[in-house]
Amino acid sequence: MKYLLIFGLTMAVIWLWQGKRRSALHEKMRQQKPKAQSRPRQLPTTEIVACDVCSVHLPRAEALTHGRSVYCSEAHRRQAQG
Ligand SMILES: [Zn+2]
Repeated sequence: MKYLLIFGLTMAVIWLWQGKRRSALHEKMRQQKPKAQSRPRQLPTTEIVACDVCSVHLPRAEALTHGRSVYCSEAHRRQAQG
């Protein structure tokens, strides 16, 4: 009976120790995760604009702008300005 109690206590200690270790590991992983996410993103930010005439969406770099107006092509820019 005495050995059973010692065995039970030992198992309880091991179980508790492993639980603590597991939670510490989780804590470590949780702390490492944001570090990986905070890596600077190399994705270029492309602003999409809509043509004032036909509403087609295109990157700002490819659009023709006139003041605040945005056009998809020279033809639409001329069409809008008469
Ligand atoms: Zn257009």
